[in-house]
Parts: sequence; C-alpha cells; structure tokens
Amino acid sequence: MWPKRNGAEFFCKLAELSRGALELVLPPTCGACGTRTDPTAVLCPACDGWLERIAPRACQLCQETAPQTGSGLCAGCETSDSPLTACVAAIRFEAGGAEWIHRFKYPRKGLRGLDPASASVVGAMLCEAAARAPGPQPDLVVPVPLHPRRLRLRGFNPSAQIARSLARKFEIPFDPVALRRTRDTPSQTGLDRRERRSNVRGAFRSRRGLQPPERIWLVDDVVTTTSTLAEAAIALRTAGASTVIGLCAARALLDGPSMSR
Ligand SMILES: [Zn+2]
Ligand SMILES: [Zn+2]
Repeated sequence: MWPKRNGAEFFCKLAELSRGALELVLPPTCGACGTRTDPTAVLCPACDGWLERIAPRACQLCQETAPQTGSGLCAGCETSDSPLTACVAAIRFEAGGAEWIHRFKYPRKGLRGLDPASASVVGAMLCEAAARAPGPQPDLVVPVPLHPRRLRLRGFNPSAQIARSLARKFEIPFDPVALRRTRDTPSQTGLDRRERRSNVRGAFRSRRGLQPPERIWLVDDVVTTTSTLAEAAIALRTAGASTVIGLCAARALLDGPSMSR
C-alpha cells in the first residue's frame, strides 16, 4: 500500500532529485564534512569511523551476546518467548551514531523532518541492518507508529521516514498505517526493563481488517530492550503475520546514552 505523499516527502524527493542532478556536475561529498567521497557511501571513511558497528555475528535478538553454535541466537534468547523472530541493528547508539540519530529525530527548528544529511546516514544504517536480517526478504515493511498526538507535535514519524526509503530500496511494499498506537505512552527513558515492558503493554493495534503477509520487517530508529518492537510485533502476529523481524538503525544500552529530549 502506497499512501499519498505528504509535503515533507515531496520536498525530500525534490532534494534527492536535485542531489542526483548536482552529482552530474559536482563529485559526491561526505554528508558530515563535505570532502569528496565514494559515491556509494554517505560518509567518508574518517566520519564513518565515528560510528560503532554492532558485530555482524552478535545474537540476532539481543544483539549483545555471541550466539550459540549453529544458531543465530544466544542461549537466553533461544528460550525467550519474544514475538520477534529476530531484531537487527547496525550501529551502537553511542558517540557519532547517537549524534546522527539525535539530529535526525530533532531537526533544527523549521526543518520539520527535513534534515537530508542525517536522514541519509540513519537510512543507510537501517539498510545495513536489513542486509544482515536472517531469512528471505519479507513481503511488507511496517514502521512503529507514533501516537497521533506525538505525530502532530513532531510533524513527522522518523521511523516511517527511514522505513519508506528502505522499502523503496529493497522494492518491498510499505504500509505505514498497518499499526496504530492506541495509547500515548510516556517516554521509555529512565525506565528499567520491566517498567519499559509494562509502559508499552497493549499500546498497539493493527488496522481493522488488516491481513498481513507472513513475513514482515518492523522498523524503528533505535532499539533498547525491544519492549516497543515486541508489543508492535504482537499486534502484527495477532493479525496473522508469522515472522516479524525488528530492524533498527541503532541499538542503545539501558544504562548508555539516551535521547536528551
Ligand atoms: Zn567526512
Ligand atoms: Zn540474545
């Protein structure tokens, strides 16, 4: 399902097109420092060095521990009853990675979601995570929705923005309204694992009449304990999906840096 584009997306597309046209006459440059760089990379090697990648062989659910031999999951995750089949992120929410995500989620006043450099860096990280997702490509990409009140306040849903580019790049159908957030839950910042779980419990519902395909990529910008993704996955699985893989640009630690807003 491809809903009508909004104004912000139109200008993003316009920016993309102008960038493409510019590249015909000007060499591609790093999104952070502006030096010439490889046209396939969004950052030059020096700026990319500020991002800390998650080990490609980390457990495919908690992303922390090494998996058991012959399995993509660590011993703890193998026995967990997570509704997520897997959860993959590309970078740690630290140093350079945290700065890019903050800039993407809270663009300078007046940009209203249009910070193209940070959107392309965070979007590229999401694509890296997708390339490492286990199993075949899914049949649908769904973003974790914001509550309508938060969407009005922020003006855009960061997860939907990167999920849409991911779906385009991998040529997978995208459904930004498959899920809705029924409760405006307080921020998860500062809560422990158990509090996070109860804070978002039952916060998502699938769209009435939704008949999801079997395999879904569920996108959020940052994952910490997977509580939010798990709740959203429950709603998709209740509607009939059998495999829900969480994909995120970054993974934050419970006691690590958090969003300052
Ligand atoms: Zn650079
Ligand atoms: Zn694990």
